[in-house]
Amino acid sequence: MTTYLNADLHCHSIVSDGTLTPEELALRAKTNGVDLWALTDHDEIGGQVRAAASAAANGMAYLTGVEISVTFANETVHIVGLGFDATNPIIVNGLAKTRGGRGERAMEMSDGLAKVGIKGAYDGALKFVGNPELISRTHFARFLVESGVCKDTYEVFRKYLTEGKPGYVPHRWASLGDAVNWITQSGGVAVIAHPGRYKFTANEEFALFSEFKTHGGQGVEVVTGSHTTAEYVEYAAVAKEFGMVASRGSDFHSPDESRIDLGTLPMLPGDLTPVWELLKDKIQ
Ligand code: AMP
Ligand code: MN
Ligand code: MN
Ligand code: MN
Repeated sequence: MTTYLNADLHCHSIVSDGTLTPEELALRAKTNGVDLWALTDHDEIGGQVRAAASAAANGMAYLTGVEISVTFANETVHIVGLGFDATNPIIVNGLAKTRGGRGERAMEMSDGLAKVGIKGAYDGALKFVGNPELISRTHFARFLVESGVCKDTYEVFRKYLTEGKPGYVPHRWASLGDAVNWITQSGGVAVIAHPGRYKFTANEEFALFSEFKTHGGQGVEVVTGSHTTAEYVEYAAVAKEFGMVASRGSDFHSPDESRIDLGTLPMLPGDLTPVWELLKDKIQ
């Protein structure tokens, strides 16, 4: 089993809410010893051609990637897609549709912040946006740090951008079934991203994994930048219980913000089947 591979199958570029270009990420991944890489921008595959080309230029194996925002049981859940055909209209059109709501949501977020005295947040956030279709909470967080409202983006999320806080706007993302179908019908494998981050009851989490499998989902992120060491063990057990393959990814966004760098997490536990075992013919 090839669990020793230094695979990093989750990170973000300026095409969504990261601060590095696909080329800068590829170089950083290579420098950190990554053997198999995927760029997984939120709801967007516009960086895939550049990422695959830079991986090739650096002698690194590549899988196409995306991280799709989904609403499940009134929570936002992220589904990573790997190894799909990024030119397939099913995933291209599905993602375009789900990106559509972000602009209006951002304006409502700005209105909420204005009510607590933070003016001009929409225009302020836009200055940090690399892709106009992908304005996200992260861009607002960077603006609030730049303008001195908070000391770092973690403080911004805690005080302003999470449920019940002034800049939080509930949003309905794609359905779980749609996201899984866009990925699988385009030839890829769907993976539940950072399951330890969701505030689900045990029953809700069981429902997420069961319904995900029913829709054709096959993988779960076990080793990710958002998990504690205890959660690696917990979700390794969940992967086995549900007969799912395991993925590994840093969720790197920025050298200034991310706590975990590309390719630096522990390896996957050796008794799990890594997701790339299902994707051997999709590696570029
Ligand atoms: P959005 O898709 O606009 O809702 O933005 C979600 C993004 O915000 C995530 O992908 C993370 O990059 C970031 N994020 C979400 N929650 C937090 C948090 N508590 N602390 C720091 N960053 C967060
Ligand atoms: Mn993000
Ligand atoms: Mn995520
Ligand atoms: Mn992510």
